[in-house]
Amino acid sequence: MRYCSTRGGTQGWDFRQVLFSSYAPDGGMFMPETVPTLTAERLRSWVPLSYPELVCEVLSLFIPQQLIPRTDLQGLISDALSKFAVPGAVSIAKLKDGLDVLELFHGETLAFKDLAMTCTVRILEYFLQKESRRATVLVGTSGDTGSSAICSARGLQGVDMVVVFPRGRITPVQERQMTTHLEDNIHVLAADGTSDDIDVPLRRLFADQHLVQLYGLMSLNSVNMARILVQLAHFLYAYLQLSGVDKTRAGDAMPSLEVVVPTGGAGNIAAGCIVKQMLVPIQLVAMVNSNDILCRAVQKGDFSMATSVKQTMAPAIDIQDPYNMERVLWLLSGKNGPLVKEMFEEFQRSHHLPLTEQLHKELSVAMCSGSVSDEGIVEAMRRCWEENRYLVCPHTAVAIWHHYHSPPSGGVNRCYIATASPAKFQAAVEKAGLPLELPEEVRALESKPTRYTHLQQGEDWEAQLRERIQAVASARARGSLFYPAEERP
Ligand SMILES: *Cc1c(COP(=O)(O)O)cnc(C)c1O
Repeated sequence: MRYCSTRGGTQGWDFRQVLFSSYAPDGGMFMPETVPTLTAERLRSWVPLSYPELVCEVLSLFIPQQLIPRTDLQGLISDALSKFAVPGAVSIAKLKDGLDVLELFHGETLAFKDLAMTCTVRILEYFLQKESRRATVLVGTSGDTGSSAICSARGLQGVDMVVVFPRGRITPVQERQMTTHLEDNIHVLAADGTSDDIDVPLRRLFADQHLVQLYGLMSLNSVNMARILVQLAHFLYAYLQLSGVDKTRAGDAMPSLEVVVPTGGAGNIAAGCIVKQMLVPIQLVAMVNSNDILCRAVQKGDFSMATSVKQTMAPAIDIQDPYNMERVLWLLSGKNGPLVKEMFEEFQRSHHLPLTEQLHKELSVAMCSGSVSDEGIVEAMRRCWEENRYLVCPHTAVAIWHHYHSPPSGGVNRCYIATASPAKFQAAVEKAGLPLELPEEVRALESKPTRYTHLQQGEDWEAQLRERIQAVASARARGSLFYPAEERP
C-alpha cells in the first residue's frame, strides 16, 4: 500500500511517512494510490465486529504487516479505544420515524475526533518509541480538534504539541478543555481570528521543508491521512449496523444506506467518499451551517469562498475552506493530479473555483448537500427533544434537520452522525430553551488553572509559531523545557 499526493508531485510514500507528515511536499494532500474494494461476503463477515475490531480490520487494509504486525495493531487500537464512556466506544440511538443516530462522542473531550485521534496518536507513539525519536505536532482547531489532540498526547515522552485556537469563537467548555492542561509537552496559543485565518500561517510552516525536517514537524488535523483512515470505520460501522446487510445472503442485492454528516472541513466526507470507492453502497448527505461553500459546490458547481466566515451556533463547522474537498475532487476526477494541482492552486490564490461541468456532475452524483441556518438548528434541536426527549448538539442538529425536512423514503435506511455531545455547547442548548445536565468532568473545568499564550491581531503569527517551535525543540535538545515568562505558573 503506497500513498501519493492529490497534486501529482509525490508518489510511493508508505503509511509511516504519511503519518509523520502534513501536506505533501507539492502542497497537495496524501491519499492511498489504490483503494482496496470490499466484497459483499467480506462485509457480511464483519457484521459481528465491535467498533474497535472494525477499526483494526480497516486499518490493516492500509498499513502493511511489515510496518505494524497485526497483533501490535490490535493492541494499539483496543488500548486507544478502551477509555471511552460506552462499551465498544460508539453507540446507536434509534429514535422516532427512522431517526437512527450514530453517537461518536463518547471520548474524553466529548466529540467524534477523539476516536480517530486516540488511535492515530497511539500509532504515532508506537513508531516514536521504536525509533527513539521525537515529533513536533502543530495543530489548528475550530474547537474540537485541539482538545482531542491534547488529551491524546499530554505527557507523552516523544511528542511536543503546539495548538492554536480561534479566541472567542469557541465555547467556554471547548476553550477550557485546551487551556487547563499544564503538562510540559503541551503549548496552547489563543489567536484573535477565525480557524481559517489560523490555517494560513500553519500551511506556510508546513510548507517549509527545512523546518519540517529539522523538528519532525507534523499535523494531526484531518490533513493527516491516518486520521481519515480511522474515520473510514464510522461509515463502515454505520453500514454494517443500519443498512440491513446482516439480513442478506450470498447472491442478494446489497442494501444501501444514506449517511447524513454535519461537515465543515470535509474530513468525514472524504472518508465517506473513500468508503464508496471501496464499493460499499452508501449515499452521502453533506450538511453544513450557513457557511455553505460545500453546499454551493454540490448544488451549483460553485466552489468559492464567501468574503468572511459567519459565526453560527455550530462553531466547529464555521469553516469556509473545506480543505479535504481536495481529496474528494481528486477521487472524483479519476485521480487527475495535474488537474487538481491547477484547480487548488487557483483556489488558494483567488478563493474562487468554478468546477468543470464534468466534475460538478460527478460531485452531485457522489453526494447531496444542504445548508441550515441558526433558526433551523434551534428548530431541529427542539423537535428532536419534543419527540424523543433526546438532546443533540448544534452540529448534530444540522444533520437531523435533514430528517425533518426531507424524511427517508423508498425503504432506504439512513444514519445520522452525531459528532459531539450537547454538553460542550451550553449556550446553544439554552438558546433552544432546552434543559441540560452538565457532566461532572465538564463542571470541574471551571475551577482548574489555565496556561496559554495570546496571539494578537496584526502580529506575525507565522513568526511567533516558528519561534515557539524552535525554542521548544532547542530546549528539548538541552534536556530542558521551554515556556515563555507569562505562562509560568
Ligand atoms: C470537527 C467537527 C465537525 C466537522 O468535521 P469534518 O469532518 O472535518 O468536516 C463536525 N462536528 C463537530 C462537533 C466537530 O468537532
